[in-house]
Amino acid sequence: MISVSEALQIIESVKTSLSKGKTDIDMSLNKVLAEDIMSPINMPPFRQSAMDGYAIKLTDSNSYKLVEESKAGDGKKIQLEEGQAARIFTGALVPDDADTVVIQEHVKRSNSTIVINKLPIRFSNVRPTGEQVKKGEIVMKKGQLLNAAAIGFLAGIGINKVFVYKTPTVAIIVTGNELQEPGNDLEVGKIYESNSIMLSSALRTIGITDITTFKTKDTFDATRSVIAKALLHSDVVLVSGGISVGDYDFVQEALKENGVEELFYKVNQKPGKPLWFGRKNDQFVFGLPGNPASALSCFYIYVTPLLKKISGAKDIHLPRVKANSISDYKNTTGKTLFLKGMLYNNIVEILHGQQSSMLHSFAKSNALVRIPNEVELVNRNDEVECIKLNI
Ligand code: AMP
Ligand code: MG
Repeated sequence: MISVSEALQIIESVKTSLSKGKTDIDMSLNKVLAEDIMSPINMPPFRQSAMDGYAIKLTDSNSYKLVEESKAGDGKKIQLEEGQAARIFTGALVPDDADTVVIQEHVKRSNSTIVINKLPIRFSNVRPTGEQVKKGEIVMKKGQLLNAAAIGFLAGIGINKVFVYKTPTVAIIVTGNELQEPGNDLEVGKIYESNSIMLSSALRTIGITDITTFKTKDTFDATRSVIAKALLHSDVVLVSGGISVGDYDFVQEALKENGVEELFYKVNQKPGKPLWFGRKNDQFVFGLPGNPASALSCFYIYVTPLLKKISGAKDIHLPRVKANSISDYKNTTGKTLFLKGMLYNNIVEILHGQQSSMLHSFAKSNALVRIPNEVELVNRNDEVECIKLNI
């Protein structure tokens, strides 16, 4: 059995070749940039008015003659003499002769004369050309995750195609004779199968959409052949259940039989002790415990960083914050605990219902509280590490 840190270390240090390709930015959400981006233009591309008002060349006078108008989108060259003003609107081209925009609230207008009742500071409300970014400047680095803001920014500088890393394809295999599809009355001895939809939802949340789900009974042959099928088309395979040491747990043997090499098995943690991780060339396999809360916990802590790493991301872990616990908690296990918690700013409540079979508390939580294996007691107000789940 290895420690949580050792297991994470193994995930962090996997080496793999990453494939990349050019894509339209509208297909790039949640992908990772595989190139540095140089801005092809200044942003803003011209001197822009930041407000609705009047463009002037500021003098000591507070009275100006209104001679022109510049609205958003106009490209005509406006000439202003000293003492003249142009009506101007947000986003419009500021005439070359003007250095200042007076906001309309500070102006009294009568016919074609404006009187400024509060003189602005020179250069007010004029966005200089290239204020945000300069043409030729590196504005985004390889490794950046493309979120809504990043995609909007790229579009704003005129870029509509980018080089990104390929998003991994994932297969989910659920094992278990006891599993029944939700939707019909439960047969005696059966339970509803929930891990496949839970894991595919967690995958979709981080932008992975090429997901195939397989199901198998608990026999060695069926498990071996479903793993072989899953390995045909997937970068990562997540096997749910069958990884423990029961007489009907065949996943470990079946993985070995398929040439998947073990990188670790069993982590000193709760939930999720029987976690298995291995690889076959550039493909990775997790054997996740079947208990739903264990499977999801392992997904957030281990599967997410592996998927992010092979997607080219630099930041691979979920964000961690320190918070003060408002709950007492005893750790008599000698294991590192990942407890379902509710984080409010810098305080966290450890929720009831921590057993590995229980998802109802997980469904309400927004953080996992990590209690190191050597900590036997968390007292109220103790500082604890929280892994944020609002992803
Ligand atoms: P296993 O890891 O196969 O020993 O399963 C551990 C526990 O998780 C058992 O109670 C299983 O019935 C349950 N379980 C396994 N797979 C699933 C699944 N796909 N959905 C819901 N519960 C599961
Ligand atoms: Mg099982």
